Amino acid sequence: MRLVDFHCHLDLYPDPAAAISEAAAAKVYALTMTTTPRAWPRNAKLTETTDCIRPALGLHPQLVAAHANELTLWEQYLSQARYVGEVGLDAGPRYFRSLDLQKQIFERILTACAQAGGKILSVHSVRAAKAVLDLIEAHLPSSRGKVVLHWFTGTKAEVARAVDLGCYFSVNAAMLSSERARAVVAVIPSDRLLTETDGPFTQFHGRPSRPSDVSVVLQQLASARSSTTEQLAATVISNLRAITEPGGNVEREL
Ligand code: MN
Repeated sequence: MRLVDFHCHLDLYPDPAAAISEAAAAKVYALTMTTTPRAWPRNAKLTETTDCIRPALGLHPQLVAAHANELTLWEQYLSQARYVGEVGLDAGPRYFRSLDLQKQIFERILTACAQAGGKILSVHSVRAAKAVLDLIEAHLPSSRGKVVLHWFTGTKAEVARAVDLGCYFSVNAAMLSSERARAVVAVIPSDRLLTETDGPFTQFHGRPSRPSDVSVVLQQLASARSSTTEQLAATVISNLRAITEPGGNVEREL
């Protein structure tokens, strides 16, 4: 059974090379974020010898206040990157003050992705689901790139709107821990579903989550959807193919 961890931060573990070989040994297809463009060359190098781990080029909304000047670097590296993340908006209390700047940066990132075409984005949307969807709708048509909403905590209506915009969702264990969140996850269509850990920012049995821990997300999602873990794993793999393979949706719609 192949697993998918579509949002993790392997460069933030104490030993990134060990985290990467462990994920590869566990046969997890993992997408590892960069939080600032400056980390891109190192992440690209760390992952270049694996078949199943890919790096994403990002500028994390929580770091925009201090790193906005790296946007030009992000733009320079974009032609090297198929995946983009972590990007998006964070309107939580600690980052609210930079929200206007975050919106300017996210708009420029979406516009650059639309111009380039064929990019796949992992998008953060803490307390900002509406603003994130507004910007995606305005600047990145689904024919020009694929958006995966990471740890999405919007409403059921916002899930429906995101589905109409062509978005996918990567679901982690923390999203299944409350009744309200489970009710929102339940309305995500099966053909838009991916899994993630967001490790090392989430915990599993008192230690930072590892990519192989997505097996637990799969089990929980499977029981919530009256499916088997194997069936759901196959669905997630097929969704991964739909967004990533040559001849998949991105290319077909171009
Ligand atoms: Mn993250």
